[in-house]
Amino acid sequence: MSMIEFHNVEKYYGKFHALKNINLNVDAGETVVLIGPSGSGKSTLIRTINGLDPIQSGKLIVNNYDLSDKKTNINKLRRDVGMVFQHFNLYQNKTVLENIMLAPRIVLKRPEDENHELAMQLLNKVGLANKADSMPSQLSGGQKQRIAIARSLAMQPKCLLFDEPTSALDPEMIDDVLDVMKDIAKNSNMTMLVVTHEMGFARAVADRVIFMADGQILEDDSTEKFFGDQ
Ligand code: ADP
Ligand code: ADP
Repeated sequence: MSMIEFHNVEKYYGKFHALKNINLNVDAGETVVLIGPSGSGKSTLIRTINGLDPIQSGKLIVNNYDLSDKKTNINKLRRDVGMVFQHFNLYQNKTVLENIMLAPRIVLKRPEDENHELAMQLLNKVGLANKADSMPSQLSGGQKQRIAIARSLAMQPKCLLFDEPTSALDPEMIDDVLDVMKDIAKNSNMTMLVVTHEMGFARAVADRVIFMADGQILEDDSTEKFFGDQ
């Protein structure tokens, strides 16, 4: 079953042609890594998937929502398709626990006790249960990113998009974040699309590697083929 389908998608920023004739299919449950030089359109591509960046032509279907149709309810789509950013985007004036509980409470109306239990489970999963009552400003970059991932998981999305989740981190913090992502990739049915320069991560957990340059997909290979392992 397809989670994401691009058919001849074109995206412009004004006159700048950012995505050129993108054709791509990602099945539910797949983990796909997107690589390529800076400015090649990787971030733009994943931002179109949850409607952060509109497309100009072609067809884009995500979780059965047609993003080429302006009438599509993007907020509903975003319940199922989460995004983890390079710069975390945590709510600075709320505790770690509140960061995780807020969207499920408001958007999903999840009962408070259930919501609390799930949030604590997720904090355990990312190894930060002892930070529940901390403020984001008290955390390291790596801890912030693990909280941002837990916050996305709290919505129990079908698909999670990662936009260079470790690029803003000090080197010694990168592995903790990658380990959380590897655990999700291996032990959940979630679809994951990850823009990253971490080739070890790609080799360890990706089903496919996509290489972009100049707004185009130049390669779309199985991980084995991409790394020459077969
Ligand atoms: P990558 O993620 O591969 O580094 P991006 O998708 O961020 O690439 O950017 C692709 C190109 O689109 C770059 O040349 C960038 O400057 C341009 N771009 C990105 N966002 C915008 C925007 N909001 N307005 C204009 N140009 C943009
Ligand atoms: P990142 O750190 O994710 O690579 P960028 O510096 O490429 O971020 O972009 C940060 C923000 O500025 C994004 O929202 C992007 O869409 C926007 N942006 C990037 N390039 C341009 C551009 N040439 N013109 C206008 N906005 C841009």
